[in-house]
Amino acid sequence: MRYDYLIVGAGLYGAVFAREMTDMGKHVLVIDKRDHIGGNVYTEDTYGIHVHKYGAHIFHTDNQRVWEYVNRFAVFNGFINSPVANYKGEIYPLPFNMYTFNKMWGVTTSEEAAAKISEQRKEAGIIEPKNLEEQAISLVGSDIFEKLIKGYTEKQWGRNCKDLPAFIIKRLPVRFTFDNNYFNALYQGIPKGGYTKLVENLLDGIEVRLNTDYLDNKAELDALAQKVVYTGPIDAYFGYKLGTLEYRSVRFETEVLDIPNFQGNAVVNHTDRETPFTRIIEHKWFEFGKDDLGRDIPKTVVSKEYSYEWKQGDEPYYPINDEKNQDLYLKYKKLAEGEGNVIFGGRLGEYKYYDMDAVIEAALDVCSKELKK
Ligand code: UDP
Repeated sequence: MRYDYLIVGAGLYGAVFAREMTDMGKHVLVIDKRDHIGGNVYTEDTYGIHVHKYGAHIFHTDNQRVWEYVNRFAVFNGFINSPVANYKGEIYPLPFNMYTFNKMWGVTTSEEAAAKISEQRKEAGIIEPKNLEEQAISLVGSDIFEKLIKGYTEKQWGRNCKDLPAFIIKRLPVRFTFDNNYFNALYQGIPKGGYTKLVENLLDGIEVRLNTDYLDNKAELDALAQKVVYTGPIDAYFGYKLGTLEYRSVRFETEVLDIPNFQGNAVVNHTDRETPFTRIIEHKWFEFGKDDLGRDIPKTVVSKEYSYEWKQGDEPYYPINDEKNQDLYLKYKKLAEGEGNVIFGGRLGEYKYYDMDAVIEAALDVCSKELKK
């Protein structure tokens, strides 16, 4: 066998695993069925703007080890994500903070805002929130739920807010201070030169074969390595034999506009139910003029995001971690544990709504365990 590890998928999990093992003297081969590396963090240059081809990614972490790790492979630009919500032409700052509460209710102090929320929670009769709707109302009240959460969430997930797990809405901070930073994280930014550059640096000197589908050529590829690291969908690995896990997929409508500034912000969420897309990304603002590509490009690239139910053959994006899917995932996980020489990792391999920092941490942890064996 020529390799110690065959790594299936050149996204963040695969690239970090490949880097670590290579640095420890192991021989690895990375394959990907796409014609590029980077997985869904892949960025592509259009008129000097790094376009996030598979959706916007903003790196943020509290984990010092992960932050130091990624800084070995990229310079981060200090971008702070401050999306705004557009509800039928009314603009609200996100995440939910004193600016949002002031715009919604005219309140100016945290006591007034907290009182408003508590009054609306009581009116809704919520004591112990059991689903996303109840969790949202109990965190921010019913006005914000109706205008900024309900429509967006139902478009994004194609499900009623009562049928979705509460944890999804807990991704968003709720603050009683004037602070539009979308993340509660010590470190945040976008790699200068785009994410593709970061992954290129991770994979520096490592053999990568693109346009190579693992499941279509499994026997032949398995014969090349002692062990496999599989970052594709776990149910696809097993031929969907226990059923398919559900995902939301996303279609991007990307346009180049001959104007320097379309919406004045990287992310604008359209939170009403009627607008068919969830958000518009204006990619140049991720660079925030700190990159040498700057603000003065006379063009801009914008992507509208349309969320839809995944079916076989589509790109899987968001795992739907409700009870039904979670139960099915655990059955696949059991099968996976029986595959002695295969490590399942990453968003698709673990069917998990993973942030980038957590993916990197998981890959580093699994590498350490492997090396101790
Ligand atoms: N969300 C919302 N309104 C918004 C933004 C987010 O209701 O304006 C909810 C929605 O359910 C979404 C979840 O919060 O799926 C998590 O949002 P996040 O921005 O973390 O999603 P991602 O960027 O991963 O798509």
